[in-house]
Amino acid sequence: MPAEDDPHRASLRRWLEAHPAPSARELAESGLVAPHWPAPWGIGADPTHQLIVDDELRRGGVRRPTNTIGIGWAGPTLLFAGTPAQKDRYLFPLLSGEEIWCQLFSEPGAGSDLASLTTRAVPDGDEWVVQGSKIWTSYAHSAQFGILLARTEPDAPVHQGISYFICPMDAPGVTVRPLIDMTGAHTFNEVFLDDVRIPAANLVGTRGQGWSLAKVTLGNERVSLSGAGALWGMGPTASDLVDRVRGSGGTGDPLLRQRLARVWTEGEILRLLRLRTVSAALAGSEPGPEASVRKALADEHGQHVMGLARDLVGARGMLQSTSPVSEHPMGGDGAEGSGWPAALWDYGYLFAPALTIGGGTAEVQRNIIAERTLGLPHDPPV
Ligand SMILES: Cc1cc2nc3c(=O)[nH]c(=O)nc-3n(C[C@H](O)[C@H](O)[C@H](O)COP(=O)(O)OP(=O)(O)OC[C@H]3O[C@@H](n4cnc5c(N)ncnc54)[C@H](O)[C@@H]3O)c2cc1C
Repeated sequence: MPAEDDPHRASLRRWLEAHPAPSARELAESGLVAPHWPAPWGIGADPTHQLIVDDELRRGGVRRPTNTIGIGWAGPTLLFAGTPAQKDRYLFPLLSGEEIWCQLFSEPGAGSDLASLTTRAVPDGDEWVVQGSKIWTSYAHSAQFGILLARTEPDAPVHQGISYFICPMDAPGVTVRPLIDMTGAHTFNEVFLDDVRIPAANLVGTRGQGWSLAKVTLGNERVSLSGAGALWGMGPTASDLVDRVRGSGGTGDPLLRQRLARVWTEGEILRLLRLRTVSAALAGSEPGPEASVRKALADEHGQHVMGLARDLVGARGMLQSTSPVSEHPMGGDGAEGSGWPAALWDYGYLFAPALTIGGGTAEVQRNIIAERTLGLPHDPPV
């Protein structure tokens, strides 16, 4: 970690003294929510500076606003291709979490093969009229805006006729229907778009060129979804699991010990890969195929961590839903800093199968690695 007298640290401490309990808006406007973004939305921080920001905010007990899709991959795409007016209008409320964003990409007939999407947008005066339906739309029920892919040139080759829009989720004709997943949580939804009128000013980038922007979004999504926590960057890490086992006296089972060593090693490899992605971003490149390598490894790693946690509990793990949290050997007392509460390990175990599906499946990541990194032949057309 950078030294205590690092000038960036000193200036942050002064700011935190002046703002001991900053509002989400103050954090956004100070550039501390996404410090690596350029000014005025970020502070153009290099990795060391980012570490300092993270460290000082943690020390000050300051939490950043949450807006997973907005900050993680909608915002970076607007930064990359948005008009000055779009950046002015959307980026600060997105960073402060005042406006939540969702991603209207997947359709019932277009998931892995996203370019085959059939939602249509037809120009009508100063507006586009959108007709179609989307599925698996995380946070659509709480979002104010969605990044939307729709076909604007139906006769063009599939990858060339798609445009990228900002869709207001309160526009007449938008209907959101909940989907409850097997953890019992309501995170994603079906979204129906019936003659939804979107202003022409909400087109991002050039008409018909939305596929290249979708790739920017998906690259950033893959990076965001492979942070340190085992569940797409959130939740406990392999090290947390190892610490917890150590803290409870270890395990004598040689197979479990081997698996613990393996998940810890995977966690270290992923940490180094994350540093590589940061270096690439600093060199000015958008996330490329290396983001797929990272996501392919991180998703399976998350499943290994959660599967091992459950196996360490043994048969009792099957009874978790009926036993008190405090009796769960993997669970802490739920207090901050003392480990992850048992409920999160349970949730993680049930959520883990989704890791290799959302944000591009394990097979799709391997196709990208094969085609773009290893130069192997493309998938045959279906
Ligand atoms: C938790 C979660 C949150 C999500 N949130 C969102 C969201 O907010 N917005 C959004 O737009 N989408 C979201 N999704 C959807 C996600 O992007 C899709 O589920 C994913 O792209 C896969 O598409 P599909 O479900 O249609 O599966 P399909 O594409 O039908 O795939 C079915 C199976 O076939 C395999 N397969 C498909 N094509 C190939 C191929 N060429 N080679 C080898 N194997 C292949 C796949 O790997 C998979 O195993 C979310 C999904 C999950 C699980």
